[in-house]
Formats: sequence, structure tokens, C-alpha cells
Amino acid sequence: MASPVAIAVQAGKLLREQALRPRLLAVRSQAGHLTSRRWLNLQEYQSKKLMSEHGVKVQRFFVASTANEALEAAKRLNAKEIVLKAQILAGGRGKGVFNSGLKGGVHLTKDPNVVGQLAKQMIGYNLTTKQTPKEGVKVNKVMVAEALNISRETYLAILMDRSHNGPVIVGSPQGGVDIEEVAASSPELIFKEQIDIFEGIKDNQAQRMAENLGFLGPLKNQAADQIKKLYHLFLKIDATQVEVNPFGETPEGQVVCFDAKINFDDNAEFRQKDIFAMDDKSENEPIENEAARYDLKYIGLDGNIACFVNGAGLAMATCDIIFLNGGKPANFLDLGGGVKEAQVYQAFKLLTSDPKVEAILVNIFGGIVNCAIIANGITKACRELELKVPLVVRLEGTNVQEAQNILKNSGLPITSAVDLEDAAKKAVASVAKK
Ligand code: GDP
Ligand code: MN
Repeated sequence: MASPVAIAVQAGKLLREQALRPRLLAVRSQAGHLTSRRWLNLQEYQSKKLMSEHGVKVQRFFVASTANEALEAAKRLNAKEIVLKAQILAGGRGKGVFNSGLKGGVHLTKDPNVVGQLAKQMIGYNLTTKQTPKEGVKVNKVMVAEALNISRETYLAILMDRSHNGPVIVGSPQGGVDIEEVAASSPELIFKEQIDIFEGIKDNQAQRMAENLGFLGPLKNQAADQIKKLYHLFLKIDATQVEVNPFGETPEGQVVCFDAKINFDDNAEFRQKDIFAMDDKSENEPIENEAARYDLKYIGLDGNIACFVNGAGLAMATCDIIFLNGGKPANFLDLGGGVKEAQVYQAFKLLTSDPKVEAILVNIFGGIVNCAIIANGITKACRELELKVPLVVRLEGTNVQEAQNILKNSGLPITSAVDLEDAAKKAVASVAKK
């Protein structure tokens, strides 16, 4: 069974990202810079809209894209106090800093005019938090919400947990803060409820979690009810994680979701069209969006060897082996499962559009993928794009013999490699020669 620390650490992250992200974070620090976002992400205001539609209690709010809109929104809210929140996908906004000089991505004020002034120092500026790259993330929108008093902040998350083969609800009475820190310093304050996905959430599970979170008296039922509604939302929208921090209570006796972060299962796109249509791609690199148009996943890195792979595991292995041989990857392009020849062409086009790229390493394992399709795509792309950089190809698996013949008979200067090690050595050598 996973430790509470492991569960809580998972609670802060998206499961599908776990395989790739930590490694990419390591690469990011080695390489100096990396921007990558590969999955559907919604801004807080979008997540809260979904929550509110499912009976989950959130504050009244408007969204604004200009300081003037923010001011108007603040007036329209007609609230005793207003909370203004920068909308970026990273957390830790409260303690973040803008490159306009403004401190804090979350502000409380009673004066609508102040909302306008603060929004002016947020919109169009970069906000740097613990979770963003150093240079921060540009803020395009702010959320203007009715502020409520908070008497207690707890942590609540629902996530798909591989080790339990199903959803787990994770909670802590110590919310509002970094949950990883709570897990590290006081693991006894992390509680979990494993849900049987076929039987659904039981009343006593919701009640027990509410109690563990410290909700007392009538608040306990209210919190349990919110937890059940969040669970139903989680299932209905094919989320892999719903995280609410703080899941708070007000002195007036309300249980409210003050913050929201939802991650989704990308394989559910076909039945969640409305949600995926909301995908905010404004934080993506243009090249990532271009790749997504062809069902390719692009991750930019800082080296000079472009990597064309299929699958996150192979991407990591390729990355490691390039490093081990003294090279640095420039990027990854992940081809995924069902490949078409046209995609291979687009992939090459994208890879070579990056001026840093001095060599291309193709490392494809043909399980579902037919290697001959890849080989045909490669030769076509080489000819049409008049490829200028060395190309090292390692193909393995289905129909590999035919694929090798296609490459060999193409007359193109393609270097074949027998295995991954050989491929990495040859790619690194081709760059060193230059
Ligand atoms: P994060 O820093 O990106 O996680 O943003 P949050 O939405 O969690 O806001 C940060 C902190 O601001 C919260 O932990 C609360 O303490 C505070 N906060 C947010 N909304 C309100 C509100 O309506 N009223 C009060 N009093 N505090 C709020
Ligand atoms: Mn938060």
C-alpha cells in the first residue's frame, strides 16, 4: 500500500504526468529551460463553472481580460469584499510575484477601484510562482469573485490512483498550504478514502472524510454532501484529479471550494467534447499546438538532438541514453500509437523547424505501429523537406525488415542503428563532428 506521503504527493500532481514529468523536470533543470504542457488543462474559473453546474459550492464570480472589465465586474458583483485572482494554470499564486512589481496573484479588497488598479498590474504581465518556470507565465485573464471570510482551510482531492485501481479521496485538515509539506512534516494529518468505482462513494465514507477534515456539527453533513458532489463531478467529467485547496469553511457556516484544479483523462475526449473545447492553449508554445493538430505530442528541450519517439517510456529512455553519451536532446516528438504516414511527415517538419536541431534521432518501437509506415514517412519527409541535418534511425518491432529495406534502398543519407545505445552514440557523434 502506498504511503500517505506518496498519496499526498500524487494529490498534487496528475497521474498521467507522473511517468514523464519528474524526469522532464530533471531534464528541465539540466537543460536550463523547458516548457511542456501536453494535456487538457482548465483555468480555475472554468473548473469552478463545472463545479457550480454540479451543485458544488463556489463563490459568485466574473472573468475579465482587461483592467476595465475587472473594475466593471467588481462593481457588478456588488459584494462587501472582492477577491481578485490571476488565472494561470500553476498553483501557489497567492505567494507569487508579477514582473510588473506587484506581489501576490490573489488579492482581497473592498474597493472596486482597487480591483481595477490591481488588475492593471496583473493582466499582460508574467506571474512567477513556485510552480512556474523562472520567467513566470503570462496572465491573460483574472477572476473577480465575491470574497468570503474563511475560518478554516482544509485540503481535499479526488484522484485516480493506480495502486488502488480506482478513485481515492485524499484530505487533510491542514489545507491552504503546500500539501507536500504537510505530508512530509505531519503524515498523520493526511487521510484517504478508497472508493470502489462500481459501488460509488458511500455515505459513511463521505461522513468520515468530513470528520477527518475537522468539520463539526451541521458543517459535517454539508462537507460530506460537497464531497459526494465533487466525487460525482469527478466521475461524470472523466477527471483524473479534482483538487480543492482550500476546501474551507466560513464563519457563517458554509463549506466552500475556494480554489479548484481539475485534470482530465485525455482518452475520454470523445465523450467530453464540450469540456475539451474549453481547453486553454494560450500557455502552450505555438509548436506544441501545431503538434497537437496532428495528434503529436511535442516537448521542447534545450539541446541539439531532435528525438522522434513513440511513447513516454521510450522518450525517457532516449533522453537518458543521449545524456549518458554526452549529448543533449533538443526536443521530443511523441508519435503515440496508431501512426499514419502523413503524421511522420508533419513530425519531421516540426522537428526541423527548430533552429537548434543539428541532428535527428528516430527511435521507434513498432508494437502497434508498422515500421514500414514509419520508414516510408521518413523517406518521403527527407526528400520533400530536403533534410539538411544528419538522421539516425533505430527501428525495432513489427515489419522491421521491410522498413530497413525501404531505408537502405532509398539512396538517402540515413544512418541506421542496431539498438538504442548505437543510435544515441551515432547521433551524438554526428553533432560533435560539426
Ligand atoms: P493559490 O495560491 O494559487 O493556491 O490560490 P488560492 O485560490 O488557493 O488562494 C490563495 C489563498 O488566498 C487561499 O489559501 C486563501 O487563504 C486566500 N483566499 C482565496 N480566496 C479567498 C476569499 O474569498 N476570502 C479570503 N478571506 N481568502 C481567500
Ligand atoms: Mn490553492
